[in-house]
Amino acid sequence: MTLLELEDVTASYGHAQVLHGISFRVGENAAAGILGANGAGKTTTLRAISGMVATGGKITYDGRDITGYRPDKVAALGIAHVPEGRGTLGDLSVRDNLRVGAYLRKDRKGVAADLDLCLDLFPNLRERIGSNASALSGGEQQMLAIARAIMAKPRLILLDEASLGLAPSTAQRVYQAIRRLRSEQGVAMVVVEQNAMLAFSVVDHAIVLETGKTSLSGSRDELMGLDEVRRAYLGG
Ligand code: ATP
Repeated sequence: MTLLELEDVTASYGHAQVLHGISFRVGENAAAGILGANGAGKTTTLRAISGMVATGGKITYDGRDITGYRPDKVAALGIAHVPEGRGTLGDLSVRDNLRVGAYLRKDRKGVAADLDLCLDLFPNLRERIGSNASALSGGEQQMLAIARAIMAKPRLILLDEASLGLAPSTAQRVYQAIRRLRSEQGVAMVVVEQNAMLAFSVVDHAIVLETGKTSLSGSRDELMGLDEVRRAYLGG
């Protein structure tokens, strides 16, 4: 079953069109990757799905045309966006950041269970539960941003550059949790990553963007087998 489908999606900032017809789909419980150089339009593609940029073409989620929906409406349908730069609330504790993530939910037991899940996925956050988010390391803030998204109980997570600025071992830990989230909880994902090896550790298929257009698309194995992908994204 297709959960998310983009058909010929365009996006513009003012008069500047930056996406020129992007198409891909993500199945339920599946994970799609978006690769590409700086400025290719990866972040904008996630912003288009979330309703944060003027968009054309068609975006369908769970059988519903959500093109042009506002961000709050998209979130209420079960799509959680973890933006680049994390966006945690620095003045609030880890615990309160996680509560904010769950603010639309009424199922107290489910919220408590998901808090346990987050602390199990990210043991660092358990140790820092009472600390202000601003006092966390970069890696812990990234973990908190993902955990906060999990607290909304999404069916689909949009993950923007989760490894950016992290030490390799920290990035590995973050991606290990992301893989568990997918395999154990069945959350579908769209993963934007500069680090293609990390992206390929979780996605089943991916597209490569070049100046707002899809230059390649295929299964993980197909793409990893291509010389041009190996040269540009996998260090030869
Ligand atoms: P990066 O890895 O650098 O974030 P990206 O592939 O995610 O790259 P986008 O951030 O989607 O690329 O940017 C695509 C294009 O849109 C770039 O040319 C960028 O300069 C432009 N752009 C991004 N945000 C805005 C904005 N708010 N206003 C105008 N142009 C923008």
